[in-house]
Amino acid sequence: MPRDPNCIFCKIVAGEIPTQKVFETDCGLAFLDIGPLADGHLLWIPKEHYETLHEMAGERVGSLCAPLPQLGEAVKNVTAAAGYNVLQNNGRVAGQVVNHVHFHIIPRAEGDGLGYRWPAREYAQGRAEELTERLRSALGST
Ligand code: AMP
Ligand code: ZN
Repeated sequence: MPRDPNCIFCKIVAGEIPTQKVFETDCGLAFLDIGPLADGHLLWIPKEHYETLHEMAGERVGSLCAPLPQLGEAVKNVTAAAGYNVLQNNGRVAGQVVNHVHFHIIPRAEGDGLGYRWPAREYAQGRAEELTERLRSALGST
């Protein structure tokens, strides 16, 4: 199993540092975030060490993500949240601090002050078409 001896989440998987575990499957582990944005803020991680989502095979991501609806529903019900965010950061520029793939499940309440809106922008003339073409090519779309 891929593991990084210096990774804090690998240490959690190995039981080397304590955490509040709430759920696990063969491939994933859920535990309370130590610095919660709201009570019940969960992290859902693969037991194997991958730094970013795109390093994982699609089938692994599929298996890992299968319990996300169940986790979201449990967080929502237990915390009586009005909603929740599922957030997954890749790369430091995107806010990733721990370099082991993780999904945040963050309960949300009206007026909780956490926010969610990012400033939307517009495409320059022709840019959307150019990017669509390049992305279709990168993805092998026909
Ligand atoms: P990110 O900024 O997306 O990399 O999020 C990393 C998250 O890991 C942060 O929300 C931290 O509070 C959380 N975290 C770091 N160390 C621990 C730990 N030992 N146990 C639980 N959560 C942790
Ligand atoms: Zn790790």
